[in-house]
Amino acid sequence: MKITIFGTGYVGLVQAAVFADAGYEVICVDIDEARVARLKAGEVPIFEPGLGTLLKDNAEAERLTFTTDAPAAIRAGEVIFIAVGTPSDEDGSADLQYVLAVAATIAEHMEEPRIVVTKSTVPVGTSAKVRAEIARVLKARGREDLDYDVASNPEFLKEGSAVADCTKPDRIIIGVDRADSGQRLRELYAPFNRNHDKIILMDVYSAEMTKYAANCILATKISFMNEMASLADILGADIEKVRLGIGSDPRIGYQFIYPGIGYGGSCFPKDVKAMIHTAESVGFDAEVLRSVEDRNAKQKRMLFDKITRYFDGELAGRTFGLWGLAFKPNTDDMRESPARVLMELLWEAGAKVRAHDPEAMEECRRIYGERDDLVLCEQRDDVLTGADALILATEWKNFRVPDFKHIKATLTHPVIFDGRNIYDPAVAARYGLNLFGVGRDSAS
Ligand code: NAD
Repeated sequence: MKITIFGTGYVGLVQAAVFADAGYEVICVDIDEARVARLKAGEVPIFEPGLGTLLKDNAEAERLTFTTDAPAAIRAGEVIFIAVGTPSDEDGSADLQYVLAVAATIAEHMEEPRIVVTKSTVPVGTSAKVRAEIARVLKARGREDLDYDVASNPEFLKEGSAVADCTKPDRIIIGVDRADSGQRLRELYAPFNRNHDKIILMDVYSAEMTKYAANCILATKISFMNEMASLADILGADIEKVRLGIGSDPRIGYQFIYPGIGYGGSCFPKDVKAMIHTAESVGFDAEVLRSVEDRNAKQKRMLFDKITRYFDGELAGRTFGLWGLAFKPNTDDMRESPARVLMELLWEAGAKVRAHDPEAMEECRRIYGERDDLVLCEQRDDVLTGADALILATEWKNFRVPDFKHIKATLTHPVIFDGRNIYDPAVAARYGLNLFGVGRDSAS
C-alpha cells in the first residue's frame, strides 16, 4: 500500500516517517518549497526527538520521499492523508481553507479510486465538506465515475514525544461511513496494532468530535488546577501538596494536573476556541469551555502580576533572566507559548529580557527578530548576568537542577519566579533566595 501525506508539519512529517519505518512507501507533499528542499537535502525542519534518524534511514531506503508535485503524489498514493494546518480564524473557528484546498487538488488529479483520510484536527462535519468538495471538482471534470471515500483519523501525538506516540499509539480512532474503508485503514495500521487492539472504529462525526473532546478535557484539567492554585495562594495552602493529595485517588490520577502559567502550543488554545465556536454555531453555550479559556488567559499573566507586585510596579529599566521559551519542554514550538505573553508584558512595561531555551531560540529569533530589549543567551546561566530576577517559564530538564549559589551571587535581587513549580521553596530559602511559584507562595 502506497501512502501520500499532505502537510509536512509536526503531524504529517512524523506520521510519514513512522509509516515509512514500518515498511510503507510514503510520499510527502507540501506547498512550502523551502521546507521540501530542506527535507530533500536531509535537513530536519522541526525539533522532535528521534525524528532525524527515522527521516534519514527511510529516505536512504527510498521509502520516504518529499515533493511539491501534488498531481504525481495523488497518482501514487492509494490512501491520501490530509495533515495540513487548521489554525484559528479571527472568530475562533477552525480555518479550513488548507484542508479544503487539498481536497480540491486531490479531486483535480485523481485517476483511480482513493481513500482520503482527514488527520488534521477538524470540526465535526468537516469530512462531509471534504467529501462535497471532492464531489464538486470531480463533477466539473466529468469524472463522477471515480470512486472515493473520506475517513476521519484524528491524530493524538504530543509534540516532544511525537515519534514514540505515533509508533506506539494509545488508540487509533478511525471514523468511517463505509465498512470497506474501515477494513483498509485497519490493515494500514496493523503494524501499530499488534500488542492489543487499539483501533476504535466509529462513525465520522464521532471521530471528529473525539479529538476535540480529548483536547478540551485536558485543557479543562489544566485550567481547573490553575484556578485551585490561585485560590491556594490566597488561602495559604500549597497547591503541590494538594496535587499529591488529589492525584492519589485513581478516579483523578496524577497525570496532567500540574498547575503552571497556562497552556499553549498549536492545539489546546485553538481547539478549545474551535469547540466553543462549533457549539455557538448550533446555538449551544459551552459554558465550561468558555471558563477554561478565560482562566487560561488570566493564568498567562499571573507570573507577570507577581513580578510587578514584587518590584512595586517599577519594571522599567529592569532586566529579567528567562529560562524557557517553548510552550513545553522537548519542542522548539513557541505557538501560543506562555513565555511569549510574559516577555511581551515585560517589554511593554519597559523591561529587558535575557532568555535561554535549549531548542526554541532560532524560532524566537524568527518571531521577534533583532530587538534591543531581547538578548538570547547560548548558555543557560548567561541569562543571569546583569539580571534583576530569574523567571522559569518552561520546565526543561536542563533547568531542574540550577546552581542556586551562583544565582544568588549573580542576580541583583535574590528572587526566582518559578512558573512550573519545579523548585523547592525550602531549598531556595537555604540559599537566601525568595521563590514565587504557582499556588504555593505561602510556603515560600
Ligand atoms: P504545521 O503548521 O506544523 O504544518 C502544516 C503543514 O501543512 C505546513 O508545512 C504547510 O506548509 C502545509 N500545507 C498547507 N497547505 C498545504 C497544501 N495545500 N498542500 C500541502 N501542504 C500544505 O501543522 P501541525 O502542527 O503538523 O498540525 C497539522 C494538523 O494536525 C492541525 O490540524 C493540528 O491541529 C493537528 N494536530 C497537531 C498536533 C501537534 O501537536 N502539532 C497534534 C495532533 C493534531
